[in-house]
Amino acid sequence: MPAFPTAARAALGDTQLRRNLAHATHTIRDKRAKVVAEVEDWEDLRLAGAGVKEAALRDLATHLETLEASLVRAGATVHWARDAEEACAIVARVAHDHGADEVVKVKSMATAEIGLNEALEAEGIAAWETDLAELIVQLGEDLPSHILVPAIHRNRAEVREIFLRRMAAVGRPAPADLTDEPAVLAGAAREHLREKFLRAKVGVSGANFAVADTGTLVVVESEGNGRMCLTLPDVLVSVVGIEKVVATWSDLDPMLRLLPRSSTGERMNPYTSTWSGVTPGDGPQEVHVVLLDNGRTRALADDVGRQALRCIRCSACLNVCPVYERVGGHAYGSVYPGPIGAILNPLLRGVSDEQTASLPYASSLCGACFEVCPVRIDIPSVLVDQRAAVVDSHRGDRVPKAEAVAMRAAAWAFSDARRLAWAEKASGLGGRVLRRFGRTSLPGGRAAAGRLPGPGAAWTGARDLPAPPEESFRAWWDRTDGGRHEGEGPE
Ligand code: SF4
Repeated sequence: MPAFPTAARAALGDTQLRRNLAHATHTIRDKRAKVVAEVEDWEDLRLAGAGVKEAALRDLATHLETLEASLVRAGATVHWARDAEEACAIVARVAHDHGADEVVKVKSMATAEIGLNEALEAEGIAAWETDLAELIVQLGEDLPSHILVPAIHRNRAEVREIFLRRMAAVGRPAPADLTDEPAVLAGAAREHLREKFLRAKVGVSGANFAVADTGTLVVVESEGNGRMCLTLPDVLVSVVGIEKVVATWSDLDPMLRLLPRSSTGERMNPYTSTWSGVTPGDGPQEVHVVLLDNGRTRALADDVGRQALRCIRCSACLNVCPVYERVGGHAYGSVYPGPIGAILNPLLRGVSDEQTASLPYASSLCGACFEVCPVRIDIPSVLVDQRAAVVDSHRGDRVPKAEAVAMRAAAWAFSDARRLAWAEKASGLGGRVLRRFGRTSLPGGRAAAGRLPGPGAAWTGARDLPAPPEESFRAWWDRTDGGRHEGEGPE
């Protein structure tokens, strides 16, 4: 994937995408605001939610061991996966052990994060997404663009076209008279998926929460497809990030009140499935739980960034983010887009590659993401901290970046009063020249530099550089004696 600025520039040129995104994010945002306003103690609830997750993270190792013991007691098999490769290999092995060449999947960020579908395909196993939006993305051979609504960038006409074009190749075809009415499209998806639900021997899920003391996994969803995946196949494999653990069953209380209002703008989500291991004669008779690290312990070790592991993937921060709203999820190059993706990806993977290192800058730092986050993750602070991590990672570069050279020059000028005075004079002169010869001006008439050549091109390519004032503050102070002789113009 290209770095964020490159990908964002391409996305900004797609007017249909921007229309679809603006419509969808505003609709969900307004719905959320209404149902949140109904809850008098919403701020207390946020504090409680943050407290539950923070307490679980503080003693993560103990809670995970308790979870493992509880799950094993309930008849599940627990696997530990350090990274994506290990996790995918475990799921493939379970499917092979049962002679399965296909699995049905509940929508799961963790399995998308580890590229499970692609890994299973390489092993000759087809993974069918059963969430409607995920199905649209899969059939469209596309990438998810939103945590909650992965096909947010598609409109109804596009969905109809995808169903007509692709469904027949992978199962039951869409009816020839398919219209773009949402209910008709959902009906076609239901018919298409039903045969897959009834045929599959293995189901794959994630989990929204994992309760340590009871060994219970929880999936929260709106369509009921998840419940079908969790109950119909003989074998169930759940891939669960280690940060999903909470200590006790009662810890679910604030979480299950915060999540639906923050994500879909509903007072309660339609389906909450909980399961603990195996129940003889009912549901899957073989249950595997893969506890996934994949960078989470790395994030946990980061004093400022560890709060990102509190995330319950509600997507509220995406829907209020002015940057996300304009570029959509693909520009972030990850299954975790938007403000949470801009911090989570660097925390999980480090900032050594150019694409991940560009993400902490994909924000205006307006703070709207923190305001809506149900578990009070201070995303703007983590973004600033991650920007510092990116800068630190370049300190030893043999050829310093233009920004580093500019900062060193600024430090040199600021460390000596005479140098600073000289720099102020030079900048005033620059301002005068710009005012006389510059061809660009800002709203209000202030002169500005256009796109600069050389190292300044990247910076000025996306920003205005206003002409510096002709007279510096210190020169003004000297001239007017601190404002006592105001009204005398500069020489
Ligand atoms: S960071 Fe907060 S608002 Fe964003 S998805 Fe996670 S929990 Fe929701």
